[in-house]
Amino acid sequence: MSTFQSLGLSPNILKAIEAEGYKTPTPIQEQAIPPLLDGRDVLAVAQTGTGKTAAFSLPVLEIMNNRTHPNKSIKALILSPTRELAAQIDQRFAAYSKHMDISHMVIFGGVKQGAQVSKLRRGVDILVATPGRLLDLIGQGHIDITKVEFFVLDEADRMLDMGFIRDIRKVLLLLPKKRQNLLFSATMPKTIAELADSILKNAITIDVSPKQKTVKRITQKIMFVRKADKRRLLVKIIKAEKVQCAIVFTRTKHGANRLVKQLAQSGVDASAIHGNKSQGARTKALAGFKNGEIPILVATDIASRGIDVDDVTHVFNYDLPNEPESYVHRIGRTARAGKDGIAYAFCDESESGYLVGIEQVTGTTIPRDLTQEFHYANAIPKPGQKAGKIKEAKSSKPNNRNKKSAPKQGSSNNNNSNRRQGGQTNSNQSQGRGNRSNNNRSNQNTNNNSSQRRNNSDQSRSPSRRDRAQNQQRDD
Ligand code: AMP
Repeated sequence: MSTFQSLGLSPNILKAIEAEGYKTPTPIQEQAIPPLLDGRDVLAVAQTGTGKTAAFSLPVLEIMNNRTHPNKSIKALILSPTRELAAQIDQRFAAYSKHMDISHMVIFGGVKQGAQVSKLRRGVDILVATPGRLLDLIGQGHIDITKVEFFVLDEADRMLDMGFIRDIRKVLLLLPKKRQNLLFSATMPKTIAELADSILKNAITIDVSPKQKTVKRITQKIMFVRKADKRRLLVKIIKAEKVQCAIVFTRTKHGANRLVKQLAQSGVDASAIHGNKSQGARTKALAGFKNGEIPILVATDIASRGIDVDDVTHVFNYDLPNEPESYVHRIGRTARAGKDGIAYAFCDESESGYLVGIEQVTGTTIPRDLTQEFHYANAIPKPGQKAGKIKEAKSSKPNNRNKKSAPKQGSSNNNNSNRRQGGQTNSNQSQGRGNRSNNNRSNQNTNNNSSQRRNNSDQSRSPSRRDRAQNQQRDD
């Protein structure tokens, strides 16, 4: 097994790593750092939690450390899909570079640009950015990325899901041709492989396939429950298991707010984190959660992206995600830093198809808890049930006043509808990936023409991804 020393890192970096308590490199670090130090492009399939941030930031720092840079031009650009992840990457750079004379900063939207602009004026070596704010400040002439030597695209799959592809392409056009590229993605669908092809040159591909490993340390349980009983079930578990550090995932921002209020009524302290909250409120909630003041964080998927809190003992899928990959991502918020974790998922009658999709994609059957007090057998998937949403009583009513264009995939308003977004849901939208791998013969309950079209063609990925992205951007 290699050590950080044997990977060829300088003493000032090794000192910083030691202070972080890292003893040995993680697999992604072991595999990515040497080729990156050799100047190679790297394509890595790795999730948050694998140590991927150090895998790219350590070699970037090492190479910069060994070069003389007379000016303060931006030499490394790291693009991240969300503010939280961007902030975390910047914090990692701060930790790893503390014995070096290298400057770094993070920029993202949702906050005033003044402080960011003044800091940029003083010059910065490493810039971590979300795409929107980056392009905005480039457009205003505050940022020059023409001297970038390292370009890191983090969570590329999420970038695409969030509809950032055009922004990424714009950024690519502004970068110098000669540069080293690193692309990280939790999954490697065709679209990412194509994007990687267009960015990377002669890249080394690394797949650390962390899922199995992570999942092994997570005790998973699925509980079938009426929608109306979910809150009581949640409170019961939180109290019974004396939960001190948990993330509860809801599908909508509105649902997250409502749940926080309901939990308060039941004597459970919680804060919500989602895209409608100001950046200040998000940062405060996250800080309170990290330092233990807030035991329960109620989050939507996008806002939770990149939450990296080692002590999370429980993850609750209060609403099952309509994207199977999100389930894997959500439960990966626990069992971090070598610890164990528990992931409970609540499945109501309208969500059983989501469970089918999750189990198809993960290739596992999540253990069922059929003995819990609120057990509701009707929510169990029927034999041969298809993946995806099975019914949407409310949105099938003609109340979709705002609907103008194509219906949105995987609504953000299930039966517990988010009325402000009324009309975004199509009752029979099915789960893209689950459907694609599913057998079309069992069309029970769900299929209309649109889901069948998706089943029949892989081209369906584009519109559904775009639609999902629009939903998600609304969230962030
Ligand atoms: P990441 O996948 O980059 O989000 O990192 C996940 C967590 O692992 C962070 O809390 C890092 O500080 C931590 N970490 C990264 N590398 C190591 C290592 N080699 N040993 C122990 N912890 C690490």
